[in-house]
Amino acid sequence: MNGHTSRTQAVESITNRLPASVVKTESLDAIWAVDVFNLAKMEKALSKSTFASIKKTIQTGDTLPTEIADEVAEAMKNWALSKGVKFFSHIFYPMTNATAEKHDAFIVTDFDGEAISKFNGSLLIKGEPDGSSFPNGGIRVTNAARGYTAWDPSSPAYVKHTENGATLMIPCVFASWTGEALDKKIPLLRSNHAMNKAAQKVLTLMGETNIAPLNSSCGAEQEYFLVDAKFASARPDLLLAGRTLFGAAPAKGQQFDDHYFGAIPARVQVYMQDAEDQLYRLGIPAKTHHNEVAPGQFEIAPYFEAANVAADHQQLLMTVLQTTAKAHGFICLMHEKPFAGINGSGKHVNWSVGNATQGNLLDPGHTPEENLNFLLFCGAVIRGVHMYGPLLRAVIASASNDHRLGANEAPPAILSVYLGKQLEKVFEDIQAGKLAPTDDGGIMDLGLTQIMNFKRDSGDRNRTSPFAFTGNRFEFRAVGSSQSVSGPLVAMNTMLADSLNWIAEKLEAELKGGADKSAAVITVLKELITLHGNAVFGGDGYSAEWHEMAVKERGLKNLPTSADALPYLQDESIIKLFTDTGVLTPVELNSRYEIYAEQYLLSIEVEAKLVVDIAKTLIYPAAISYLQSLSAANSGLQAMAISLDNATAKTVATEANAMMAAVAELSEAMKKETFGSTEEHMQYFAKDIRGLMDKVRVHADTLECEVADKLWPLPKYQEMLFIK
Ligand code: ADP
Ligand code: MG
Repeated sequence: MNGHTSRTQAVESITNRLPASVVKTESLDAIWAVDVFNLAKMEKALSKSTFASIKKTIQTGDTLPTEIADEVAEAMKNWALSKGVKFFSHIFYPMTNATAEKHDAFIVTDFDGEAISKFNGSLLIKGEPDGSSFPNGGIRVTNAARGYTAWDPSSPAYVKHTENGATLMIPCVFASWTGEALDKKIPLLRSNHAMNKAAQKVLTLMGETNIAPLNSSCGAEQEYFLVDAKFASARPDLLLAGRTLFGAAPAKGQQFDDHYFGAIPARVQVYMQDAEDQLYRLGIPAKTHHNEVAPGQFEIAPYFEAANVAADHQQLLMTVLQTTAKAHGFICLMHEKPFAGINGSGKHVNWSVGNATQGNLLDPGHTPEENLNFLLFCGAVIRGVHMYGPLLRAVIASASNDHRLGANEAPPAILSVYLGKQLEKVFEDIQAGKLAPTDDGGIMDLGLTQIMNFKRDSGDRNRTSPFAFTGNRFEFRAVGSSQSVSGPLVAMNTMLADSLNWIAEKLEAELKGGADKSAAVITVLKELITLHGNAVFGGDGYSAEWHEMAVKERGLKNLPTSADALPYLQDESIIKLFTDTGVLTPVELNSRYEIYAEQYLLSIEVEAKLVVDIAKTLIYPAAISYLQSLSAANSGLQAMAISLDNATAKTVATEANAMMAAVAELSEAMKKETFGSTEEHMQYFAKDIRGLMDKVRVHADTLECEVADKLWPLPKYQEMLFIK
């Protein structure tokens, strides 16, 4: 089928599409966590003492005695078999943004050839996929390939259903034979551990006793686009790169602001409810859903959970959204910028730390100035953002997220922290050496008798800040929609651990010197805010003034592209941070740099090849067809002594030539193979290659506005964005 017929057929079939059959939703009680081997199911299936051990491990991170693994494995297997499962799989999280699975059947045969099912402690605890076949940044070579997956009891096993059967999925870490982390889970667990250790020190100095282990929490808001699968199948760029590499701006985009929180299209609502039912079965607490700013864009946010579980659930949520979309005739785009000129997608990562005894340490209460523990933890975050801004930028770096950051629709590529009026005042007071009363938001009185008054939040929201305090947590708003939340969580936990260690040392000295608690906290935080207050910013992060001031006056880094940000993973201060906290060894950190740099280069390479291919084989032929029809029309008219104004033909010919010249330039530029360093290579791709891709696009998009609609091969923005 040639390009323009597949587009026309897509338009036709979508216009005549029948509403998707409504999926019958079941009550929450009937489906909640039915596919999860959670504590409730373990309690029923395990002996009292085994259950007590595993519960302790899950809740406190204590080591699980090896002898109980057999009993847990047996119970897990029996539960899974009762649900029709024949296979089990260790699921792990390699350094791509995807998950990996290695499936094994429970079946073994006995001497008589009878099939029996077998699954024991050692199969539960350890698996052995090939470590060199996953991105490892040079840690593993092909001939030294051994890698291990190892069961993570703190993230529950679950059953994954497909049309044809079900598989028991066991969340795991993934390490090399030499013990290095090859995944995103090990550093997350280690960072939590480091944060807990440092937090315990600070809380103990503050006189707290009986301190339960601290854990970080994460609630991630996932944005995504839905596009009809028929349109996507006629767009090789969407299928292979996840974004449109061509496409003229539609007459109507998002300028009316009429999509955000608007009524959800019926077809999408049916899809969302179907996906959410599946999430509930998997014990993922999907909480809110709504339309986002751009047409065709939506958001789903589960209720927050322990960071490690939330990270696993986030990966599963992306998979469920994508597979369910297929069943509803959509494709679900997680790409950060599927459509130029239309808002892209992010993933706000809401993060806090707390425990069962002290509660949420990032919750100020009504009088933050009296909540010394909160002030210390909040101060620790401010210091973290200031010292490790480039790290926070590097962990959200990707070829796709570069399109959003700093583009006036998402936070800038400068890391600052927003506190809100009340907290800004507390820290200003601290800098002046005191703690004084503050106003909270007060009561909202709209002057309407029928509307009840309510308590107002202590601060407004700031949509332009990459890292904002939002009442009882921080919201890292610059994370990309396709990214794993693990990298950002590791960075936040680790910088917090480092800051709390710094605080503990200072606090200890003050207390030893005889200061009372309050005076000691003021002294330490005064020093902290004097050194690091430059990261606090409450104004418009999109403005040109901030871009100038941040860099020139505040000494913050503006790192617009991944090519600028990723090299910071090799910075001395970042190596030291990860070494001191025990989260990543220099070898592990370096391997991550290598992998992310390679992924960045590969993504742009694929896109550049697609640009060349689509321009040559779809767009140029469409332009030529149009020229042929114009010239045929003109010849016919001339026979009747009528002449056609040839302005359109001239424009089409000029643009087609210019596009092909740019294609030639891009193809030539892609041949360059030798670079002085990876940094140089990345900069070349960020500037030269992307620049040339844009050049091709400008001419192609002009052609889209000139060439007859029926000849145009690629589904257009206005067709794809407005869901019918
Ligand atoms: P917003 O108004 O910011 O769009 P949403 O309700 O869409 O808020 O998402 C907020 C996210 O923050 C949810 O996932 C929510 O569970 C999570 N969240 C709430 N409190 C905390 C907390 N203390 N720690 C971490 N995440 C939290
Ligand atoms: Mg939200």
